[in-house]
Amino acid sequence: MAKKAPIGICKLCLKTAQLQESHIVSKFFWRGSGLFKTQRAFNTVAINNPEVRIPARQDGFKEYLLCRRCEQRRSEWESYCAPLFFHATSPTRQPPRHPYFEFGNIEYPKLKLLILSTLWLMAVSKDLYYCHVKLNARKLEQLRKMLLTSNPGRDSRYGCVFTVLVTSDDFKPLPAFFSQPLRLRRTRNGVTTKAYGFIIAGIHWQIFVSNLVKDASFERFFPKETGILRVKVASPYSFGYLKPLLDELKSGTR
Ligand SMILES: [Zn+2]
Repeated sequence: MAKKAPIGICKLCLKTAQLQESHIVSKFFWRGSGLFKTQRAFNTVAINNPEVRIPARQDGFKEYLLCRRCEQRRSEWESYCAPLFFHATSPTRQPPRHPYFEFGNIEYPKLKLLILSTLWLMAVSKDLYYCHVKLNARKLEQLRKMLLTSNPGRDSRYGCVFTVLVTSDDFKPLPAFFSQPLRLRRTRNGVTTKAYGFIIAGIHWQIFVSNLVKDASFERFFPKETGILRVKVASPYSFGYLKPLLDELKSGTR
C-alpha cells in the first residue's frame, strides 16, 4: 500500500509542500542496471560502512526530500539522460575496445544538471550510504540555486569524468555494479584536487568539487558546453581506491 506523503520543507525550493520520495540516484539508473528487471533482490555492500549492509534490497535508495514540482524539474533532465546512458545502441552498452569514446551534440545543460542534482542530493541525504559526501554550506547553497534556476554553470566547474567499467579480458560492461560514494583527494605539484567517486550501473563517476581543476587529463573528459562528451572505458581495477571493494567481492564472502 502506498505510504502517505508527509508534509515538509522541500530541500530545493524551500517551500512547505507534500514531499515526494526522491531517488537519490535516479530510478532510470537502477532500472538500466537490470537489477529490477530480474525481480531479484540484491545486496548492498559498503565496506567503509559495514553497518549499511542491507541484504535483499528491491529498490534504490530514496528519501522524502523534494516537492512534486522540484521532482518534475529533475525528471526533465532524467528523460534526456536515460537513453544517453541506456539506449540499446548507446556505446555505454557496447563500449569500444578503446580507452575512450565520444558523444557529439549532447544537451550540456540537461546532462550537467543531472550530475549536479545527483551530487547535491547525495550531500543533503541523511542516508548513511551517502555519509561521505559532504559539501560546505556555501557549495550546498550554490548548487541549490543552480538547480532551482536550471543553471548548469560553466563546464569547468563541478566537472564529471565518466568511465564505463568493463571486464579486462573481453570488454564486457558491468551494469549491475554500484558502489558507495567516497571522497577522493589527490595532490600533484602542490595542488590538491578534491572529488567524489562512485559507480552507478557500471559507470564510474568522478565529480570534481575543487574550484579549479587545472589538469587537462581530467578536464578533457568533462561534459562540454560545446556538446562534446568523452567517456572513458576501463577496468574497475584502474581505480586504486576501489581495490578493497573488488578484493572483497572477489573473495566471495557473500
Ligand atoms: Zn520544491
